[in-house]
Amino acid sequence: MLEIKDIEVFYGETQAVFGASLTVNPGEIVALLGPNGAGKTTTIRSIMGLTPARTGSIAFDDADITHMATHKIARKGIGWVPDDRRIFPTLTVARNLSIAKKKTRYRQWDTEEMFGIFSALEYLMGRDCENLSGGEMQMVAISRALLGSPGLVLFDEPSQGLAPKIVQDVMKTITRLKSEGISALVVEQNAIAALEVSDRAYVMDRGMIIHEGSAKDLLEDAALRRRLIGM
Ligand code: ATP
Repeated sequence: MLEIKDIEVFYGETQAVFGASLTVNPGEIVALLGPNGAGKTTTIRSIMGLTPARTGSIAFDDADITHMATHKIARKGIGWVPDDRRIFPTLTVARNLSIAKKKTRYRQWDTEEMFGIFSALEYLMGRDCENLSGGEMQMVAISRALLGSPGLVLFDEPSQGLAPKIVQDVMKTITRLKSEGISALVVEQNAIAALEVSDRAYVMDRGMIIHEGSAKDLLEDAALRRRLIGM
């Protein structure tokens, strides 16, 4: 479904990703782990066309999206839940969600269904987003991604700044999406939380993929995890 081959990504003359390759198969949840500054967010930004890869290629559903504009990539069916949420703060929740609606070749969701996933959302619809808590904002960010009818959702640090109970809720939601046939790439510093819901995992360090394997193996092998991620 997503195939990244040997990409190199630069910020100006500074190289951040050095020949990374990664795949997400249909219906899979894949974790992308690694320490601060490893290049995880840059990889996600490259998939979304925000920092296009200078060399290598990125394909989604067999189409080359390496140099495609971000809005076209979104229209192909890739949803993005950014680490800083990027919700319009002065607009209501309802408005943030209504402008996110898109048709793709994937399953279309409606706002009522979002209330089934996040029961609190219904009561927040009239609120301006600047008044929401971190957990409420994350609900809006995930709902916004789903209303764009994605086949694949990129989650960048979904647990960041959230209370442990809400982290569990967010991770459960990612598993729920999988049961609806939606794939996910989950960038996380909270390796355990991500590994618990993932099928496979990659570990990145200093711009390179240094490990690829089953999530279960990495979850069960604390020594390997410590060696790879330092925890
Ligand atoms: P974190 O969890 O800290 O965000 P990360 O694994 O997501 O870590 P990136 O944010 O992708 O890492 O950063 C990879 C490298 O690129 C780092 O060396 C970082 O300093 C550099 N970098 C990131 N953004 C920029 C930018 N806008 N301009 C220049 N360098 C950048």
